[in-house]
Amino acid sequence: MANDTAYQKCINPACAAEFDCGQAMFKCPNCGDLLDIKYNWDKIEVPHKMSYFSKRWATRDNRFDFSGVWRFRNLLNFCEDKYRVSIGEGQTILQQNSLVAKELSMNPKSLFLQYEGLNPSGSFKDNGMTAAFSHAVMVDAKSCACASTGNTSAAVALYAHSCGMKCTVFIGTGRIAFGKLSQAMDYGANTIQIQGDFDDCMKQVQDVCTKLGLYLLNSLNPFRLEGQKTIMYRIIEQLGWEVPDWIVVPGGNLGNSSAFGKAFAELKELGLINKIPRLAIINADGADTLTDLVNNKKLTWNNGNVDEKIINEYYDNLTAMNYSPHTIASAIEISRPVNLKKCLRAIDVCNGIVMAVSDDEIRDAKALIGKFGLGCEPASAATIAGLKYLLADGTIGKDERVACVLTGHQLKDPNVTVNYHKDKMGQYSNAPIEAENDLEQIIKLIK
Ligand SMILES: *Cc1c(COP(=O)(O)O)cnc(C)c1O
Ligand SMILES: [Zn+2]
Repeated sequence: MANDTAYQKCINPACAAEFDCGQAMFKCPNCGDLLDIKYNWDKIEVPHKMSYFSKRWATRDNRFDFSGVWRFRNLLNFCEDKYRVSIGEGQTILQQNSLVAKELSMNPKSLFLQYEGLNPSGSFKDNGMTAAFSHAVMVDAKSCACASTGNTSAAVALYAHSCGMKCTVFIGTGRIAFGKLSQAMDYGANTIQIQGDFDDCMKQVQDVCTKLGLYLLNSLNPFRLEGQKTIMYRIIEQLGWEVPDWIVVPGGNLGNSSAFGKAFAELKELGLINKIPRLAIINADGADTLTDLVNNKKLTWNNGNVDEKIINEYYDNLTAMNYSPHTIASAIEISRPVNLKKCLRAIDVCNGIVMAVSDDEIRDAKALIGKFGLGCEPASAATIAGLKYLLADGTIGKDERVACVLTGHQLKDPNVTVNYHKDKMGQYSNAPIEAENDLEQIIKLIK
């Protein structure tokens, strides 16, 4: 069933167990660590230049050439055409935004916003789901599940129906943004609201999937990350196949940052790029495990020999404090990120940095992107909030080319937006003005 171009491999160098892609297991059965998808590049037709992929646009009546993910299928070659699921994901754009750049006092030509809100379910998650569902079809899964802060459930629900699979989504109580919850219900997912936060849901879903043999669709699933690599391919495609100086991304479960690091490591290995951009991962203050572990506890990838003691002590402490993360950026409200180790590897590969920003900074940044850009949801705006700091302290130069990944659509979380404007919470607040139903009065209000 599986082809011989790809296999799964445990990321723990002391284990390094390998498995074919015909199995669905999500964690190494030997040691419990994360799995990677590896490729036998010598058995794959890899183009000599990335520009080969742009040419596929001319044959976009082939739906795999139309997909912004599968257009790059040579670089995520783990399944045959017949298993591939696609609903037109990845038709996203990189917007050069001089107005936001000016507001940040940077070179107006050097800021780029990659708007992943344009995906079918309104977030970058579709890039990963198209890949993971293709694998689910390949292993003949009948039913699937995920834990979600919202966007994962929306994407899973949408893709499950497009390939005739049943799905159950687990969400925490009272945390999910309304736009996202409305999608899960509308797309017909079996939606279970657990009394707890995302980390509780994540634990339950893993046990449920193991017990009932459901296909798991969290970013623990290594096939999802393969699809998410293409966000980076599309950014450099739109820069004329030039690599920017910086990629800025919000950090939640750390699937994206992990996938981006893998994408660049592979492109470099294949000789398709000559430079790897630096990666800035932005947490919210109220969910800053990665920032704390990297900046304060000095946790590093260390050639795969990650110091587990530091992580375990940190998590034990969270448990002892009964800690629950809190931020208005609900998509990154996660305190035990499942892809932590892979993210450390990405930081290593991309000479990356991490930092955290406050909810107020996220709100202002979101309004700024709304005013001068295409809009986005709160978690996505952590990128611009973080960039502001990194420019101020000189980490990022004013003339360096920066691509910020806007992970989710503006309409995902309307409550945060409306409250910010109505309650005049920040410098870009733009509340509606109440007016009597009278022409004279109304005319006075026109600016
Ligand atoms: C899932 C999500 C994130 C977090 O991404 P990770 O890959 O889990 O770090 C950020 N923003 C949005 C809008 C999301 O849906
Ligand atoms: Zn292992």
